[in-house]
Amino acid sequence: MVAPLPDMKPFVTTPSFMRRVDAATSWVASVYASPLWWRLAIAALAVAIGTSARVALASRFEGHFTFATLYPAVEIAAVLGGFYPGLFATFSGAFVTHLWFRPVETAAYPVGLSLFIASCTVLSIITEILHRTRLRLNESQEKREIAERLNIATRHLQIAVSAGAIGTWLLDLGKNAAIVNDEFRSIFGLAPDVDVNPDLVFRTILPNDVSRPREALRAALEPSGNGLYHAEYRIRRVTDGAIRWVSSRGQTAFENGKPVRVVGVARDVTDEKVAARAHQERAQLAEQLESVAATAPGVVFSFYIGDDSHIAYRYVSPKAKAVFGVAAEDICADARVFYRRVHVADHDHLNAALVESAHSLSHWDVEFRFDHPEKGAIWLEAQAAPVCEQDGKLVWHGYVSDVTERKRSDIALAETAARLQAMIDGAQDAVITMDSEGRIQSVNRAALSMFGYDAGELAACNITALLSDVATRPETKEANDLRALEAGVGHRWEVEARRRNGKVFPAEFSLSEARYDHRRILIGFVKDLSEQRKVQQRVEKLNRDRLDAMAGMAGRLAHEINQPLAATATYLKVARRLLERPPQEAGTNIVELIDKATIQTLRAGKIVNSLRQLVARGEPDKTLVSVHELILNTYDSMLADGANTDVQIRLERNASRDDVVADRAQLQQVLVSLMRNAIEAMQETEKQELIVSTSNPDDRTIRVDVTDTGGGLAGNVEEDFFEPFATTKEKGMGVGLSISRSIIEAHYGRIWAKPNPRGGAVFSFTLPLQNAEEEI
Ligand code: ADP
Repeated sequence: MVAPLPDMKPFVTTPSFMRRVDAATSWVASVYASPLWWRLAIAALAVAIGTSARVALASRFEGHFTFATLYPAVEIAAVLGGFYPGLFATFSGAFVTHLWFRPVETAAYPVGLSLFIASCTVLSIITEILHRTRLRLNESQEKREIAERLNIATRHLQIAVSAGAIGTWLLDLGKNAAIVNDEFRSIFGLAPDVDVNPDLVFRTILPNDVSRPREALRAALEPSGNGLYHAEYRIRRVTDGAIRWVSSRGQTAFENGKPVRVVGVARDVTDEKVAARAHQERAQLAEQLESVAATAPGVVFSFYIGDDSHIAYRYVSPKAKAVFGVAAEDICADARVFYRRVHVADHDHLNAALVESAHSLSHWDVEFRFDHPEKGAIWLEAQAAPVCEQDGKLVWHGYVSDVTERKRSDIALAETAARLQAMIDGAQDAVITMDSEGRIQSVNRAALSMFGYDAGELAACNITALLSDVATRPETKEANDLRALEAGVGHRWEVEARRRNGKVFPAEFSLSEARYDHRRILIGFVKDLSEQRKVQQRVEKLNRDRLDAMAGMAGRLAHEINQPLAATATYLKVARRLLERPPQEAGTNIVELIDKATIQTLRAGKIVNSLRQLVARGEPDKTLVSVHELILNTYDSMLADGANTDVQIRLERNASRDDVVADRAQLQQVLVSLMRNAIEAMQETEKQELIVSTSNPDDRTIRVDVTDTGGGLAGNVEEDFFEPFATTKEKGMGVGLSISRSIIEAHYGRIWAKPNPRGGAVFSFTLPLQNAEEEI
């Protein structure tokens, strides 16, 4: 508001005076506007008052001024009531005066009467004219105001129509033509120069919808109706063929009971319709989600991180009670009710995953343990997607389900798989799984070490990379075609295997199959035959060597056997000769001779038996043997067999590894031979100390030393002791060391003898440790 300037004087006429004048004239006008009988009554009242006043003042006027008090009465009646009440008051006043007072007493009376009637009639006419003039003035003022208001309203309407993109139309029913504005043309896609009529408009409406506006227009034109027209319909816009929704409203004007025109507005409401439909769909979706949340086995939730950096739940579905054992309302009221029950060990990874999800706007996907009030510890899995809302707040919408059963079976499955893997990995043979085309899927540890690969290197390789001729089976003589591989299921055949370093080795391959998850896998077992082959070759060589040795020693053997046989024959001959003598001459010598012959015969038998042992030995039966344990066992069994217990036997286990692959019985035979020889060698000596010591000269070998304090080695050539039948003992057979050497060499070891620096002898042998053998 702008305040008046200080030097400005307001208009002198007081507003209250003008208001009073206005109020008085308005009151006079309102009385004039009242019905005639009411105004005549006022006139009558005025005349009565004027007459009464005249009567009261009769003595004072003494026959003069007959109409003196009636003039004001007529003026009041004329001013308030106009012409007729004024005239009524004039004549009724003249009449009453005439009745009341003495008529025509003086000549002045008729003059006074005439003047009264004339002046009062003129006054009444003037007041009537004034009243009417005033009325006219008021009417034109009102009309101007109405026109002005109409003008303003029209301008407002135009602004509203253009701002609201409203098309206006006027349908002249007589001419069947419509006047429309530009917006109407743009809504319907009509060119500016096209004449618009109802048919043209109806042609733009889709056939399915056209009945609605037609029916609505027909109803609006019904004279008995209210003339209102409203229809919503889809049109195909003429300019671009776009489908749009239009809402049109109108009002029919009737003249003489007949519709003459309809005026209305039309709006493109496509966006509103789309929005309304989207809103409806959203509402439906929300409703569906609500019912899904109620029926889903898990809990649907929405949460955000509040200003206090704590989680706050916006929504938790009612299933919370069943899944968590905590009511949804309680969680919404205070999220700590839920988090207090999360396993302490899972807090960190739960929070870390949430921070990560907030940073990268990625899924929050976690598994954690939860203390259910009734069920105890359960496993929950939560998945949620963060959504950034308009105000920048991050809200996670997600789902939590109880995965305890799945988790338990996962753990059980993992344990079973781990056990199975351990079993497969523990196997000596290589186990390789592959598909029907030989693509390797998994291998065990033995396969990796057998072929010299690292874990993962064999993934997606083909089995032919390891076994070049894997599909060539001897019995089928089929070409090395992998399609034939499947036909080998259930068979076992020899193949050529190749290590990573290119070294080829013989192997035995057997194939079986398994099915899982509608898939078929082939499982190949590869046994490394190189060691077996070596042993075979060695044994064959040894056999050949033994045969050669036997051939070479046939003469010595004959000599060995001949000696006792010749002695036997001599003893028997002498005995016979003695028997031919008389009994007194023969004496007891005959018995002695026969005993000696028997001893010699038995000796010959022993020699033959030893020979059999040397020649007739079969395949070694190898197992994993602990050398230390075997030494102890050997010592125990020697004691049981009644060996010399005076000898102190000491075992020095210096070897950290003593596992060898050997034929237990054969190895024991070697130890027995060496220990018995040592004990026999110490029979004559004072100091009787036998030390069996072990050591690892390198990480692939174990060495056993049998050290005695006996008479020592006879002669210089130690090697001779290992030759068959080499003995220095009177009753010795000379085969123990020879057999021992065969055995040790068959085990890829070495045996030798050395003098003990402290007196006596040291017999030593070495053997490869387990695994080290393979590389030999
Ligand atoms: P035998 O014991 O029947 O003679 P062996 O083959 O066991 O046959 O031994 C061959 C020879 O080696 C023995 O005759 C002996 O001369 C010698 N010999 C073996 N062990 C010892 C030892 N501990 N001390 C000295 N000489 C030994």
